[in-house]
Parts: sequence; C-alpha cells; structure tokens
Amino acid sequence: MPAKIINGEIIARQIRKDIARSIQIRLSEGKRIPGLAVVLVGSDPASRIYVTRKRSVCEEVGFFSYLYDLSINTTQVQLLDLIQKLNQDATIDGILVQLPLPSDIDPMLITESISPIKDVDGFNSYNIGRLCKRSPSVLRPCTSRGIITLLERYHINICSLHAVIVGASNIVGRPMSMELLLSGCTTTITHRFTKNLECFVSQADLLIVAVGKPRFIPGYWIKYGAIVVDVGINRLTNGKIVGDVDFDQAFYRASWITPVPGGVGPMTIATLMQNTLYACEINEKITL
Ligand code: NAD
Repeated sequence: MPAKIINGEIIARQIRKDIARSIQIRLSEGKRIPGLAVVLVGSDPASRIYVTRKRSVCEEVGFFSYLYDLSINTTQVQLLDLIQKLNQDATIDGILVQLPLPSDIDPMLITESISPIKDVDGFNSYNIGRLCKRSPSVLRPCTSRGIITLLERYHINICSLHAVIVGASNIVGRPMSMELLLSGCTTTITHRFTKNLECFVSQADLLIVAVGKPRFIPGYWIKYGAIVVDVGINRLTNGKIVGDVDFDQAFYRASWITPVPGGVGPMTIATLMQNTLYACEINEKITL
C-alpha cells in the first residue's frame, strides 16, 4: 500500500494562522508586536532566499522583522558588536544569524554570543543543554521541534518506536536525537563514519534523514510500514528540489512519508515564528 503523505505545508499554515491570531489578541490587550532581527552576512544566494522567506512569514503573522544585510567583508568583531546591541535592544525578541557564515567568522562563537532568551534558532549551548536535561521553557532548535510538532498534529504516536537518524549535525541530527528521546523513542544516530548504514536504516520504525545528498537513501532500505521524515533539501542541475530519500521508491514501503518540498521545510519556519512569539513572552516577563 502506498504511504500517507505528511503535509508540512498544511500544518505550517495552521500554525502561522494561530500565531497571527495571537498577535491580534496581543494588540487588543495593548501589548507590543514581537520583533525578529535577521542577520545576513555576504551574498550566498541560498541564504538570501531563506532570509527572504523567513521575513515574508514574519510579515504574514504580524511580526516586525529587521534585516541586517552585511557585506562579505564584515569582521567577526563587527558582527559580535551588532549582536551585543541586539541583545540589549528591548524591541528585539529574537536574533537569527543566517548560516553559513563567511569562513573567517566562527559560527560557534557567534551562536554563543546571542542571548539565550533571544536565541530563536535554539543553537546556543544554554538552550541545547536545557533540551538535553528535559528542562521546560526552552527555545528549541526549529527543524527538530518542527518535526515533532508535525508528527503530533498527524496523531502519529512515536513513543517506544526505534528511531534512526541519518546525519549528526548540530543543526538537525543532534537536537533531533534529544527530541526523539523526550518523545519516548529508542534512538540510534548514524553519520558519515557509520559502517553498514543499510543495516541501521532497515531497522527503523521511524527514519529521519538529514544528510544533504540527493536521494541518498534508496527505497529498498526502508522497513515496510516505517515512518519516513526527509529533512534534506537538494537542488538538482535541472532545478528540481529533491530530498535525501528516494521518494518514489520509499512511497511504496513507508506507512507515512514527508515530501520534499512541502514537508519539513515549512515547519522549520513556522517553528521559528513560534519561538519568536515565545521569546517575546519571556522577554516581557523579564522587563516587567
Ligand atoms: P551537515 O552537512 O551539517 O550534516 C550532514 C550530516 O550527514 C553529517 O552529520 C554527516 O556525518 C552525515 N553524513 C554525510 N555523509 C554521510 C553518509 N555517507 N552516511 C551517513 N551520514 C552521512 O548538514 P545539515 O545542516 O544537517 O543539513 C542536512 C540536509 O538537511 C541538507 O540538505 C540541508 O539543506 C537540509 N536542511 C533542511 C532543513 C529544513 O528545514 N528542511 C533544515 C536544516 C537543514
């Protein structure tokens, strides 16, 4: 039987509508509008597209967004200075520095310099550490949190499943492993040094793939009935966007599957908006 599609576009739209409604309520209560600072360094075309999309969703939900479009020659010190200013600016609730950064800027240092309460990407060690410790009230990395929300909204119960993640990046794979653990999965995380990847993938009840290689996971590796979440975004030479999983083959083995595009991507941005609203609420409590 073919898989059922997990449509991230539909769920993300619902989330954006809910946020827009919350903003209307905030305004009626005389509260201020959340503000997101988006920092872009250099002119990487993909980054520019992501930033434009994030800012247009800010506009859709009713947030203020402020673009800091910095030249490729921006130094690390200049970027750190800007982040310090944004950390202290009471009208800014969230700070997002679009990655990747130019090679002479240390992304780790930059991520750590963002105030944990404005860290809407959830990459700061404080937020990652709190996620690892099962602490409540934490700004969580958007892609992994968005995937959990997506599964929840489809009422797909993942507790007790064997979840296998392919890819162990700080942005996706590692926080994903913590989210899955919190959801009651038994979690295996694989990466470029994993031997016999097929053996692990074929055991997955829930498979999450974030590698960045087009159609890297062949369909025949996938266990019949598995839930497949494809995080990869790969542009082919003909312009088509495909994921890390061979969708056409996997479709006839999985029980549920996310498409690319229209699966995880919209959820990442919707979660960024949820984080920004949440950061605004934290910010208000602190400044009261
Ligand atoms: P990354 O390059 O930082 O990490 C890739 C990971 O894949 C690494 O941990 C590496 O060990 C692993 N890997 C590489 N080759 C492998 C192999 N042969 N076998 C097993 N593992 C292997 O990438 P990333 O930032 O995690 O992004 C991964 C993909 O997800 C990219 O296509 C990216 O565009 C996409 N992405 C999508 C979203 C979204 O919202 N949909 C968000 C973030 C990233």
